[in-house]
Amino acid sequence: MQFHVITIFPEVCKAYTDASVLGRAQKTDKGKGAKVRGKKIEVSFYNPRDYSADKHKKVDDRPYGGGPGMVMTPEPILKAWEKAVGKKTAAIKKGKVKTLIMSPRGTVFTNTLAKEWADTYDHIVLISGRYEGIDARVKEILNAEEVSVGDYVLTGGELPALTIIDSVSRQIPGVLGTFESLEDERATSGVTYTRPEVLKYKKKNYPVPEVLLNGNHAEIEKWRGK
Ligand code: SAH
Repeated sequence: MQFHVITIFPEVCKAYTDASVLGRAQKTDKGKGAKVRGKKIEVSFYNPRDYSADKHKKVDDRPYGGGPGMVMTPEPILKAWEKAVGKKTAAIKKGKVKTLIMSPRGTVFTNTLAKEWADTYDHIVLISGRYEGIDARVKEILNAEEVSVGDYVLTGGELPALTIIDSVSRQIPGVLGTFESLEDERATSGVTYTRPEVLKYKKKNYPVPEVLLNGNHAEIEKWRGK
């Protein structure tokens, strides 16, 4: 899976995608016992400022019809998109390229979508807005889908883009250490405990539930099911 992030803050995003699980997934895995070899994901960044024709590298302008704030201009974003996937004509024809625009008004992102996208696409382009958003013609021209990460408004699309990359990546075989650790049916595996067996905090004892200590897996599963 290749992720292409269009953002005016690439360095902020890269710090996250280069760390931990996502960082490892971008490296060639030659380790013994690796179930899926090679790079599992690639993440590339495109800064609209690099594609701005303006001598001050401007990427925003005032909204037509008035109103507060600034709007991201379409041309630098379209050029960045061209650079990212414009030449992947075969993949585009086969429906293997998905373009997403981060927007608080978009389809709400879910784990089901993460799974579907991981299975369906080879390239996902994530366009991060700033200011009052992106000129609406970008969506039309790129046949993009607006996607929201939740019913709240952020200052930019970077966190939403990272959220989507993170969630889609963990659906790709080999990205998680043990693929089985991925939950098929449930979004989370419920409450979890680790050491110490009895946590002492401010003179109070907090023990781990007894059932988890007795090694009876049928009973543990039953307890977790609750
Ligand atoms: N009034 C604007 C708000 C823009 S917020 C509007 O209605 O669109 C600035 C940018 O942050 C947006 O362009 C979008 O890319 C991103 N953003 C903010 N909240 C988001 C959310 N919940 N999900 C996805 N992207 C979001």
